[in-house]
Amino acid sequence: MTALGGSLGSAFLAACSGSQGGTSGQQGTTDGASGIDYMALVNKTHALPEGWEDAVEIVTFTSSEDWDVDVEAKAYDAYLGLKEDLEADDVYVDLDSAYRSVAAQQEIVDEFTKKYGEEYVKQYVAVPGYSEHHTGLALDLFLIIDGKGVYYNEEMVKYPEIWEKVHAKLADHGFILRYLPGKKIETGYSYEPWHIRYLDDVDAARQIMDEGITLERYLDELDPMTADCEVDYGASKLYAEPDMDSALDAILAEFKNWDGCTLQRFAFAGDDACGADELEYVNGLREEGAEAFDQAIVFTTDFHSPSAEKSEGTAWEPDTDYKDWTWHLGRTGADGSWELLTWGY
Ligand SMILES: [Zn+2]
Repeated sequence: MTALGGSLGSAFLAACSGSQGGTSGQQGTTDGASGIDYMALVNKTHALPEGWEDAVEIVTFTSSEDWDVDVEAKAYDAYLGLKEDLEADDVYVDLDSAYRSVAAQQEIVDEFTKKYGEEYVKQYVAVPGYSEHHTGLALDLFLIIDGKGVYYNEEMVKYPEIWEKVHAKLADHGFILRYLPGKKIETGYSYEPWHIRYLDDVDAARQIMDEGITLERYLDELDPMTADCEVDYGASKLYAEPDMDSALDAILAEFKNWDGCTLQRFAFAGDDACGADELEYVNGLREEGAEAFDQAIVFTTDFHSPSAEKSEGTAWEPDTDYKDWTWHLGRTGADGSWELLTWGY
């Protein structure tokens, strides 16, 4: 579930969005000529286009698990086609949640801030106005396996072979897989096999799925600072991709201050670099009185410094490749967020 993610169950979230539903719901109207741009990009840096909520046509239906789901009308029709297509292959899916209004997202932010604090909300909850679910075109699926709904994120990821079948049929119905593995640097999100996006354009969807690219890259809307960055998570027994993605977040937050620099490579330094010596090293760097870290992680990056003109007043040699810059992070508990402690050669 994009907007909230983490270990929270989708069912709870679906209940959240469902209880907000019905404000603009029009049961059964699915042929609307709404004035929305089906290719619109909404992500952490691109807000929902103005006027969208007035223009979008939303339908409401009840899922097999008995909660209400609001979804954009054409996307809903396309979803029914996808569902039928999958059922012919004995793959069963249903809709967990789709449309979520900006106001509903604000309520989630308020509620979660009270419950879990600002830090948590910053990490896991989309900023109102910047969630793709506001479009009504982003659908979170869940699986039905042996007649039972499987909708918790931790459970859903255990069925890669089923997701592969789902993903193979998306483009035929004008959908794409939105948050690809290893592409957080482009989309802002870790891999979500269940989050699909309707484009109302089968050719564009086919191209995106065939090439395995993100919507950001297809629309040429990548952040120039990281657009050409190669990401290499390597093979790790210590850390899974979401662990590395949250470290990437911490590193990018710093790197974005390096005006004019472009990131060329971002690579996990390997399990051997994250052992007891490294843990001792990062613990030596932590704030006085802070809880000790019990995990350490190291990344290396290559980047290019800006031109002479733009490098003025910075520590960079102008127009130069910097190789194997090292970043050291620590965290407390596997659910904690990484703290960036030091970086450099
Ligand atoms: Zn989602």
